[in-house]
Amino acid sequence: MLPKSANVVVIGGGVLGTSAAFHLAEAGQGEILLIDRGPIASATTPQAAGQTGYLNVDRFALKFGTYCIEFFENFKQRTGHAVDFRQCGSLRVALTEPFQKDLEARYAAARELGHHVEFLSPAQARELVPTFDPPEGCTILLIPRDGYVEPKSVAVAYAAAAKDRGVAIETRVEATGLRIDSGRVTGVQTSEGTIAAESVVLAAGAWARQFGQQVGLNLRTVPVRHQAFVTAPLPGVLAMQPIVRVTEPQVYVRHEAGGLLVGGYGYRPLSFDMNEFHAGFEVASLEADPVYYQQLRTAATKFFPSLADAVLVQERRGLPTISPDGRLIVSEPGGLRGLVVLSACGVGGIDRSPGAGRMVADIVSGRPPWIDPSILSADRFGDDYATDASLRARCEELYAHHYHEIY
Ligand SMILES: Cc1cc2nc3c(=O)[nH]c(=O)nc-3n(C[C@H](O)[C@H](O)[C@H](O)COP(=O)(O)OP(=O)(O)OC[C@H]3O[C@@H](n4cnc5c(N)ncnc54)[C@H](O)[C@@H]3O)c2cc1C
Repeated sequence: MLPKSANVVVIGGGVLGTSAAFHLAEAGQGEILLIDRGPIASATTPQAAGQTGYLNVDRFALKFGTYCIEFFENFKQRTGHAVDFRQCGSLRVALTEPFQKDLEARYAAARELGHHVEFLSPAQARELVPTFDPPEGCTILLIPRDGYVEPKSVAVAYAAAAKDRGVAIETRVEATGLRIDSGRVTGVQTSEGTIAAESVVLAAGAWARQFGQQVGLNLRTVPVRHQAFVTAPLPGVLAMQPIVRVTEPQVYVRHEAGGLLVGGYGYRPLSFDMNEFHAGFEVASLEADPVYYQQLRTAATKFFPSLADAVLVQERRGLPTISPDGRLIVSEPGGLRGLVVLSACGVGGIDRSPGAGRMVADIVSGRPPWIDPSILSADRFGDDYATDASLRARCEELYAHHYHEIY
């Protein structure tokens, strides 16, 4: 039966909401209730490629990413539940000078931290990834600590670890609004009745902006479609080959069940207003954009020639959320105390989930933050991107250049 009250209610059981619930329980935040209108990890999370990528030249992103990668490396010790984190490394490939300089800066950042990274020749890269055909003259950086996880298993493991620590989890319960008293959240209205709460975490994925609008907030976070495909097994694909990320055409390619999983950015960016979907819409039924898939395949085939004749066995697509500067939003928005917004995962919510959950626990518990929270404040955009049109245009533009920005 749904509890009548809790210290903290988390709305949304994707990878971000489950991480928040786990970190809140670890921080001893009393009675915690996680609700989702569907099952756990049933929206965008299970569609992901699950890749991690911690090495960044941006100092904030590097500190954040380092916490995340250490968490994945120690997932079982941290949570008590194992995830299949394949630490196969990644190859970052740059074809032109500006991005080659970016790789040099990443190399320097890693060396400063004492992390092993290495430039490879095309021949060395081919040895690690036999189906990869890197063009002569490209720069290739090997980042051994990168890898990937099965994305749903991460959310499920967080949820199980949260439950072990006393968190109550109720699925098929929809949050319909907030109870607010003098600018402070005092509870959550749901399809099953009202739950009194001192704090509420909004981790509703693609629906965060829509939910915010219902309670008078203009959250600068927009769902933007992202697609990937998986091929049937291909000769020469190795189970532990590094992920390949080619910067200019913005494609990534990794092993999946003997075949290749291929995704990419910038192909026909499209954002959504969730109010335009019917109430029961599920991410799994998001319509495919075949032109996007075709463009992606053409771009990736230049570097992986065997993709030309590969049989496609799976399509993945979903609605990750993006903010106008490409960073997460993890913050109590001004004017509404007690609500913590956790959104704008970029196409990196699996990767960033440990750090994001930890920040939520800092905010709710009031303990000193482990990282500068102002950078992820919901209020950082001021009056910018206040209209739907300007916000969606900016977030689509950012998606179009994702690999060229801070990722
Ligand atoms: C093809 C593809 C590839 C990707 N690759 C990667 C990758 O390699 N690495 C990476 O890190 N990320 C990747 N991502 C991105 C990643 O999937 C997302 O960043 C992440 O899953 C977002 O998690 P979330 O918890 O915010 O959202 P979701 O998983 O969508 O969860 C939100 C939850 O909130 C619930 N909810 C919504 N509204 C309500 C309400 N009113 N009441 C109750 N519940 C509600 C929903 O039912 C849902 O379960 C990829 C995404 C796609 C689509």
